[in-house]
Formats: sequence, structure tokens, C-alpha cells
Amino acid sequence: MKSEDLFNEAKGIMPGGVSSPVRAISPYPFYTRSAAGSRLVTEDGDELIDCCLGYGPMIMGHAHPAVREAIDDQLDSGWLYGTPSERELRLARQVVGDHPSIDMVRFVSSGSEATMAAIRLARGYTGKKDIIKIEGGFHGAHDGVLIKAGSGATTMGVPDSAGVIEDVVAHTAQVPYNDPEALSGLLDKNDDVAAFILEPVLGNIGTILPEDGYLKDVRAITEEHDVLLIFDEVITGYRLGIGGAQVKYGIRPDLTTLGKIIGGGLPIGCFGGRREIMEMVAPSGPVYQAGTFSGNPLSLAAGSATLDYLSGHRSVYDAMDRKTRALCESLPPEDRESFVRIGSMFKLYFRDTPPNNYVEAKESDTVRFGVFWKKMLSSGVFLPPSQYETNFLSVAHSESDVETIAGAYTACL
Ligand SMILES: *Cc1c(COP(=O)(O)O)cnc(C)c1O
Repeated sequence: MKSEDLFNEAKGIMPGGVSSPVRAISPYPFYTRSAAGSRLVTEDGDELIDCCLGYGPMIMGHAHPAVREAIDDQLDSGWLYGTPSERELRLARQVVGDHPSIDMVRFVSSGSEATMAAIRLARGYTGKKDIIKIEGGFHGAHDGVLIKAGSGATTMGVPDSAGVIEDVVAHTAQVPYNDPEALSGLLDKNDDVAAFILEPVLGNIGTILPEDGYLKDVRAITEEHDVLLIFDEVITGYRLGIGGAQVKYGIRPDLTTLGKIIGGGLPIGCFGGRREIMEMVAPSGPVYQAGTFSGNPLSLAAGSATLDYLSGHRSVYDAMDRKTRALCESLPPEDRESFVRIGSMFKLYFRDTPPNNYVEAKESDTVRFGVFWKKMLSSGVFLPPSQYETNFLSVAHSESDVETIAGAYTACL
């Protein structure tokens, strides 16, 4: 069946026709039949260069032989035990070994689950009620972080979704990114804050980079106020290098959440951090957390194979960085200014300068982005279908793929 027909049927039996909202591209999304390397093949027979990469996890590209082999091997031994297995120890060793801030980890099945548990843990450990997040920061789809963005000022939460009650989000405050004064001002006034959670590099409002010193300031301010610092590295973990943003910028958060890449493309999440905090997690401590699929062997196998590959081929990070730089340098000069990139993450904003925070990002011309996005798709390049999703490259994107992407950018702009 063609994509349009599949979507028409899907709309009758699935809300909006999709399993996650961003996929509901108008008038209908293409349906993927298969994927390999840097390419997706659609049900309409088109081959596309994929710069969405499952919204981040597929840093190895699709169906990478090393990951596939690990999954194949695991399949021979079954795929869910409900008991501990040596596999989880293996991935735990890798994550702990790669992150100086992480002494212990708990595996879960998604990034949302990881941030939800990390926030509960922060409250359980500190005995305090409120959390602070970044305006426009995304931490998954659970109630406590689904907060409507305010006016740019520091705001207490208003629900961003029907069904989220005010009482829950009333305990979530927001501050603008790259604004250490807003954070310290808020903490001066509120001594009931358990944690400040942020993506060290914003990846869910396009790509927004930290200003020089911002993350160090954030670390100092939270420490000074006895507030736990949670780095949500679900995107940036193993994306910005081994050890993610915290190693790149030399910051030690108290807790870290990971997901996406550490499952090699299969569902996973994990949270980890300082021993004395992690020991509060059940069954060693009183903060409850549990999951049927937690530590499932297939995700662990795919994740370990991915991390092994990345650790054994560290030059791939430089290679991907060179490719996003080449892409940027190929753009018309007037567009280079608002092209943001860090390693294999990149985003062209339809505004004059790169945004520093949510409010500035929101000034982008999304109508122009929409026209550009459709042209890119017609040119054979699949970018995430929103001005506010980050684009990615994988180790499978060749020089010639990047030349094709660059040519398409220039033509479509
Ligand atoms: C994707 C993402 C999440 C949610 O992860 P899921 O696996 O989709 O639940 C949380 N935080 C950040 C920063 C993310 O990018």
C-alpha cells in the first residue's frame, strides 16, 4: 500500500494516524518500508537520506552490521528474562566508566521514564518538592515536565496538555536557558527546590548552544543552593562524544539521564549519578522505581555494541563534526549565520542569528521552514519535520551523502 492509503486507514484506528505526534506530517507522512545505512526507503518507493535518524538514537546509521550481529546473537538466547543478566552489568560498566559523575545506574525503557525517575529520586533524596526546568527544554511526556512556556520571565508552571492538573505542574518552575541570573534569582526566593533539570545543549527546540561559562555557572549556583543538578543527556549522551556534554564541558552533574543512543536503536533509558543519591533507589533505598522491560537483553545488546563501536572508533566524532562544518560552509553566506551545529547535531534557523533561548528560537519563520522542508524531501533529504527538532548525521553518512545534502540545502534555500 502507498503511504497516503496507509495513513488514511491509520487515522481511523490510531489518534492522528500516528504513534507519536511529530510524525503526523500534513497532508500525510511517508511510511518507511526499510532502512539501511544513511537511507530510508518509503512505501512509495523513494529513497531518502535520513537526517532525522529516529530523532537521535541511530548514530550508527540504520541496520549497522555490528549492532545487528549483537541483536542476532542475543535472539538465540531469548529476549526477556525477568531476572538479572550479565548483559546489564556490561552496559552499566560502560556507562559508569565513561561518565566520571556516574557511580551507579538504573536501566529503564525510555528517556521519559528516566527523567521521571530522576526527578522522583531528587525529591526523595532532598526531601524538597519543587523542580526547575528550562523554558523550552524537553524531558519526555510525563506530567511534571509538560509545562507551557511562559513569556520569557521566570514562571511557575501552567499545564501544556489537557489532563495535566495544575497541582502537579505548580511544583515545576521554568527559567530561560543561558540565563544564570534567572536561576540564582529564583533559588534565592525558593528554598524548596529539589533539582534543576536541563539538557546541557538544548536539542528539542532545534539546537541551542550554551554560552561560554553558562554550564559552569549553573553547577556553581545549584551547589551553592543545595539543589541537585540533573543533566538530561538523552540526546547529547554519546552524541557529543564519549561521556556526552558533561565530559565535553567538564561539568559534574549530580544525576544524569541517558536514552536514545545507549539502546542502539532499541527502547532504553537510564538514570545514574552519585552513589549516595543512587542508593536511595529501591530496593536499596525508599524511592520506588520498577519496570517489566527494564534491562531487557535486546536493548542492552544493541546498546553495548553501539558504545563498543563508538569507543573503539573515536575518530568518527571528528569525522561527523567535519561533515556538519562542510555542510555549513557550503551554504549561501546569509544562511550560514543562523546555522547552528555541534558535532553531528545541526539546525538551520529561519531567523537572522542563532537563538540563545526558547523565546528567540520561537521568533523563527516556521512557514518558510515548512516550505523549505517539503522541498528538501522532494530533493531526497528527510529532515525532522519541524523547525524545532534537531538534525543529525550518523557514522553511515558518507562524504557524498553530505555533498548531496549540501546541494539540496543551497537549491531549496
Ligand atoms: C527524547 C528525549 C526524552 C524522552 O525520551 P523518550 O525515549 O522519547 O521517552 C527526554 N529528554 C530528552 C532531552 C530527549 O531528547
